[in-house]
Amino acid sequence: MKIKANNANSPVWKDVHAHSVLPAKLEPLREIAYNLWWVWNSDATKLFNKIDSDLWKKTEGNPVLLLQTISYNRMEEIMADKEFMDEMNKVYAKFQSYMEEKPKLTKPSVAYFSMEYGLANVLKIYSGGLGVLAGDYLKEASDSNIDMAAVGFLYRYGYFNQSLSMDGQQIANYEPQDFSTLPITLITDEHNKPVILEIPYPGRIVYSQIWQVKVGRVPLYLMDTDIQENSEWDRSITHQLYGGDWENRMKQEYLLGIGGIMMLNKLGIKKQIYHCNEGHAALINAQRLVDYIQQENLSFNQALEVVRASSLYTVHTPVPAGHDYFEEDLFGRYMGEFPAKLGISWQEFIDMGRENPGTHEKFSMSVFALNTCQEANGVSWLHGKVSQKMFAPIWKGYFPDELHVSWVTNGVHMPTWATSEWKQFYAKNFDKNFFNDQSNKEIWSAIQQVPDEEIWNIRKTMKNKLIDYIRVQFKENWLKNQGDPSQVVSILDKINPNALLIGFGRRFATYKRAHLLFTDLDRLSKILNNEKCPIQFIYTGKAHPADGGGQGLIKHIVEISRRPEFLGKIIFLENYDMRLARRLISGVDVWLNTPTRPLEASGTSGEKAEMNGVLNFSVLDGWWYEGYREGAGWALTDKRTYENQQYQDQLDATTIYSILENEIIPTYFAKNSKGYSPEWIQYIKNSIAQIAPDYTMKRMLDDYIERFYNKLATRSQNLHDNNYAKAKEIAAWKEEVDAHWDSFVVESINYSKDLQTSGPVLGKELKFNIVIDRKELQGMLGVELVVAKEKTETKELSLLKTHPFKLMKEEGSKLYFDLNIVPSISGSVKLALRVFPVNKDLPHRMDFAYLKWIQI
Ligand SMILES: *Cc1c(COP(=O)(O)O)cnc(C)c1O
Repeated sequence: MKIKANNANSPVWKDVHAHSVLPAKLEPLREIAYNLWWVWNSDATKLFNKIDSDLWKKTEGNPVLLLQTISYNRMEEIMADKEFMDEMNKVYAKFQSYMEEKPKLTKPSVAYFSMEYGLANVLKIYSGGLGVLAGDYLKEASDSNIDMAAVGFLYRYGYFNQSLSMDGQQIANYEPQDFSTLPITLITDEHNKPVILEIPYPGRIVYSQIWQVKVGRVPLYLMDTDIQENSEWDRSITHQLYGGDWENRMKQEYLLGIGGIMMLNKLGIKKQIYHCNEGHAALINAQRLVDYIQQENLSFNQALEVVRASSLYTVHTPVPAGHDYFEEDLFGRYMGEFPAKLGISWQEFIDMGRENPGTHEKFSMSVFALNTCQEANGVSWLHGKVSQKMFAPIWKGYFPDELHVSWVTNGVHMPTWATSEWKQFYAKNFDKNFFNDQSNKEIWSAIQQVPDEEIWNIRKTMKNKLIDYIRVQFKENWLKNQGDPSQVVSILDKINPNALLIGFGRRFATYKRAHLLFTDLDRLSKILNNEKCPIQFIYTGKAHPADGGGQGLIKHIVEISRRPEFLGKIIFLENYDMRLARRLISGVDVWLNTPTRPLEASGTSGEKAEMNGVLNFSVLDGWWYEGYREGAGWALTDKRTYENQQYQDQLDATTIYSILENEIIPTYFAKNSKGYSPEWIQYIKNSIAQIAPDYTMKRMLDDYIERFYNKLATRSQNLHDNNYAKAKEIAAWKEEVDAHWDSFVVESINYSKDLQTSGPVLGKELKFNIVIDRKELQGMLGVELVVAKEKTETKELSLLKTHPFKLMKEEGSKLYFDLNIVPSISGSVKLALRVFPVNKDLPHRMDFAYLKWIQI
């Protein structure tokens, strides 16, 4: 018999995972690693860096992974290193004393909902500004000791990593995150089993596990459906941030809203305020309504009072097209069972998401948010105004200026975005209470007394750090992807710390107009090729994978940067993320921003620049509209001159060149014998003294508390007390007014003769009186005179003034109102009367926007 040539069965591998076990003495490191407090406490990050600097870099600054991978020898070494151990104990003591402080009970408690959080680069659950803002907010809530819990998703693939092909084409890579290496903990029950949420979806249950991220003292709970209990189709719900089709978006927003509230219920968490960061989370209010109806036996109208009184909606999107709309059919598939639970009809339910109820409009998440939240705000003063216009069609009969939609200007978490060098600088030169009193301008004004040289030195340090970072991080990648190695090396060598460095980093959405600088290449080339005044532009940013226009812009800029006259003078860095942002924003001299006005709702990266003595050069839009001060930065005018966007772009580009040529470059290069420009340092001092204090996250959080949270908490408490007595009273009153709204009649209107004949005379009193018979209507009414003006070209009406009538007498069902005014506005105006229901318990008129216009 022939012997076989080989004989082997297949291997059966056992999966094991070798990992380091931390000796007890190093246990504090683990505790610190698992709380993102380390992100904004440079002592802690320095400690991790000391453990193994190379490994720290290799893990991209992930302390959990670092501790999992350091060698046993190294652990023994650091345990024997007294200096290290002392340092560790010092950081740990600081951490412990921070954690021991209890939340301030005088401030309202808050549940916060967001699709994304930018907390640390290692936790890839953010895409850009919205997420970074939410992350910064949690950090400040922790520092300010607010009782807050936050809700979001743990994405398996997060947002994509960007690389560029040879010709500048963006390549999006989605890499799965290994959750076991992240600073997160799975929530488990008393048997050490994962706590699993069971969320009813149409025809099935979707299961989700819960991860907790400790953000200092604030817990963030992340849902994760990528578990074997779910079908493949549902596992992918939490795979990607802003990926997939509309149905996936529906599934995600259902999970964030409905699942988010179910999760808080399961964890036994109840807060006073429910804050929707953008409309994605608006469905929390559908579930909260159901809970009040089912558990507290409230009617739909009563429950709506209670839910509204505790809800705030923050809008970040300045154009209607940017909001989420769902087709009725798709929306119905997911939300079809809610009307029955709420005790209303399908029509009534879907109309809560329509600008025009009773039509076939798609369901708008923002409209639903506005209908279920008492308060709403935009994210800068200008964006507040834009939002009022955008949302005005919801409250018919009111002018945009009258709406309750308000604003809080975005800010940034200073301890996260100021580099450790600047934090040390502030600690040394500013009042010792600085970090707790960041909105105090007087403290910041101490910058004016700091010697110029000290500021210039720290700026130089930051520039060099940026340049080192670019050389280390990009060399390998560029050698791999960008061809000619000698060219790559020469570009890296050309980055010059003595050059004026101008940075531009943000999402490549087309409205951000990243191309503006490249409108006139000859002029740009002259600016960039003046040997006496070396200048370098550093660009970076990702375009959404579905945004062809944005990707085209990247390609365009990359191509220009390859031209001989721009080589090494315009540099495009791939994969803009929080790590690169921190280096870039603190390392350039000028931060450039050129959005199309008014599409930049706020913008925050320029605020990060402020924290680092970097000057802004930006369109007067978003936060810069409020922030710009002469002698502290540069601004492109806010006057929109051309309707035609192309002309406007050309004009703006010309302005950019001339401000560069005539102001920025001469100021920067007016260097003295010590190598810096005193005038430039004065700009830095002014910007730190006058601008920075208004754009911290501390200021923003305080604004939210003072403008919204306090008000909501008080009213919400009032509505909850005595078994919801007030909520029931208001709901009953609204029901009554609704039922008889059409019954009241105007019996008579009288007014001064002037109005009937020649028109009002300036300075001469006008008298009005009006008698209304309420008939069956019980609720009180108010009357006001509305003065408006028509624009000649557009026929658009704008509100000049409203004058409330005084109730003089109530006789049976009759109400007698008077108004006396002295006209002070000359020219043609329009007058009309409005009648509206009155109840002192309403927070504002839009809460119950019933109106009847009466012709004079
Ligand atoms: C701050 C930040 C943003 C937001 O910048 P804008 O100025 O609002 O465009 C986007 N991405 C990253 C990585 C950031 O750190």
